[in-house]
Amino acid sequence: MQKQPKSAAGNKSVAAQRANRRVQRLTNSVRAQSTAAKLDKSKPIGFMGKFLEGRSAIVTGSTSGIGLGVAKVLAAHGCNITLNGFGKIEEINAIQKEMTQQFGVKVRYSPADMTKPDQIREMVTSAQNEFGSLDILINNAGIQHIASVEDFPEEKWDQVIAINLNSAFHASKAAIPMMKKNGFGRIINIASVHGLVASVNKPAYVASKHAIIGLTKANALELAGTGVTVNAICPGWVFTPLVAAQVQLRAEKNNQTFEQAKTSLLSEKQPSGEFVTVEDLGNMAAFLSSPYASQMTGVANVMDGGWTSC
Ligand code: NAD
Repeated sequence: MQKQPKSAAGNKSVAAQRANRRVQRLTNSVRAQSTAAKLDKSKPIGFMGKFLEGRSAIVTGSTSGIGLGVAKVLAAHGCNITLNGFGKIEEINAIQKEMTQQFGVKVRYSPADMTKPDQIREMVTSAQNEFGSLDILINNAGIQHIASVEDFPEEKWDQVIAINLNSAFHASKAAIPMMKKNGFGRIINIASVHGLVASVNKPAYVASKHAIIGLTKANALELAGTGVTVNAICPGWVFTPLVAAQVQLRAEKNNQTFEQAKTSLLSEKQPSGEFVTVEDLGNMAAFLSSPYASQMTGVANVMDGGWTSC
């Protein structure tokens, strides 16, 4: 083999070294950026920009907890919002005012009771009329009741199924025609890890959450190719009023402080030992509402600190 002149070989190795250094610099910078993203918990919501500007969403059960968190993140991305849920009207007005000022979007409120199909239909129609369209429907309203099957009050069973499951059917049925006509729509059902696995003494909740994942898949198939996607989000423990009530029950039953009960609740099921936050869930809902998720449909998206991996 012919030997290369020394200077050419030398040049080649200098060029190779430079290229290596460039790759190393890029690798370091990507690593630094992803570490910063991991560490920067203070990053303001909506940092990805207003990609939902001009869109409008209904978030059911958004006067507290996960629904309110999701509504705020969607608003931070420029989405007009219809809030819904129970609560003191002065507090709901204050939330509306704060969100309008903070995010520069329109925020309205529907007092529709999710156990009443006619009120659900009216909520959807009035949101469509007032904002000109309805692009995103977050079926989030939900309640819990803890008792074994044999002790479960029948009216509580009906109420849990009505709010956690039937309301999503009625709201979706009312919203679909306009979404199909627009060629764009996002239906996001807030299910739970209890849509995938069970826990004792939550029969109605577990049944409603398994069923809403079934509804998500069936609806996704029917709407495939129309521009309307249907997905579920399955959170593990999120510290909201719904869970605070369960922590309180546990504290009383086990003679623990509230903080001890919180820690033991997490350690039983959620390997990360941390609560999922409403902002984490809001950002997942925002992603599912974005154009990047147009080919995600019929999916039960889990965010549970490892709960369902056990
Ligand atoms: P939450 O109690 O903080 O909020 C529930 C919301 O639903 C409130 O705004 C309430 O006013 C509203 N609501 C209740 N009954 C209603 C009705 N009949 N009509 C209209 N609105 C009604 O609860 P959360 O923890 O934020 O739960 C929200 C959803 O997330 C529920 O579907 C719940 O099952 C689900 N989820 C919660 C957790 C958790 O750990 N917190 C985990 C998995 C799934």
